[in-house]
Amino acid sequence: MTGIVAGIDIGGTKIAVLIVDADGHVRGRATHAASVGDQAGAASAIAAALDEALAAAALQRDDLDAIGVGVPGRVDPVAGHVTLAVNLGWTDFDLRGALEAELGRPVVIENDARAAALGLHRRRAVDGLDGSDLAYLAVGTGIAAGVVLDGRLHRGTRGLAGEIGHAIVDPVGPICACGQTGCLEAFASGPSIARRATTAGMEAGTAKDVYAAAAGGDHTARELVDDVGRRLAWAVHLLVMTYDVDHVVVGGGVSHAGSAFSEPIHRELERLRAVSSQAGELLPAHIVEVLPPEAEPGAWGAVAVASAVRDPDRLRGTEVVRHA
Ligand SMILES: [Zn+2]
Repeated sequence: MTGIVAGIDIGGTKIAVLIVDADGHVRGRATHAASVGDQAGAASAIAAALDEALAAAALQRDDLDAIGVGVPGRVDPVAGHVTLAVNLGWTDFDLRGALEAELGRPVVIENDARAAALGLHRRRAVDGLDGSDLAYLAVGTGIAAGVVLDGRLHRGTRGLAGEIGHAIVDPVGPICACGQTGCLEAFASGPSIARRATTAGMEAGTAKDVYAAAAGGDHTARELVDDVGRRLAWAVHLLVMTYDVDHVVVGGGVSHAGSAFSEPIHRELERLRAVSSQAGELLPAHIVEVLPPEAEPGAWGAVAVASAVRDPDRLRGTEVVRHA
């Protein structure tokens, strides 16, 4: 065992790879700004990104103890299958089998938000910070949370614990891709923010454009991002009320918009604290952390998942990831 693992974060439009040694130091990295593609070509696309990171580290595939992969979709980590990844167009895909055949190394796969929660939890433990309960709220193409309770990743019966993007927040709201009406995701995901801006008469192409306009003082954009921030603050509130976690970390592509993204969330949480002593107790100011854009929670989460290959408890789906 070399102690070296790879973490691979598969997004809708990129593949990010980190090669990390036993001390947690980054030995190599690579980002492919391209879609991973269909199931038939996915393993070779992922292998190409991995090989680029290995070359940067002057390492070979055989130097890796394991490879962790975070996937934006529904994952069966025991079978190693991706059950459904809507944004990738994958259904019932034996990703672990395909990657192990391609790479010849052990592979562990996990949902990306849950992997990120695990990675963030481990990072806090390494940093000596308190707290065994943590939620990670990812706001990007979709909205989902990963939850770590008592130091263990909480998946739930169907592996869907934390899927709050499809919590209904307004029964007369927009129709969501899932078929329901008024899901959180239909208000506050990146594509939803862009769509709402267009409906409001803005010429914004992406959520990033909307946040830039809000930061520049555009009134319509400000109203929109304030509404999104309120709804995300309620999502934080929901996670804390449901799981009683002591830390909620917010990340994902939409969160990279800086203070235009984070301030409306903090403002709404402050308002809740002011009107409710219960909210004041459950939502202390330090409970929410918005990650900086360079944090790479997905890739670090995949690294944490890779480390779990040393731990037989992983097959029960409730592992504590330990450094070997
Ligand atoms: Zn939905």
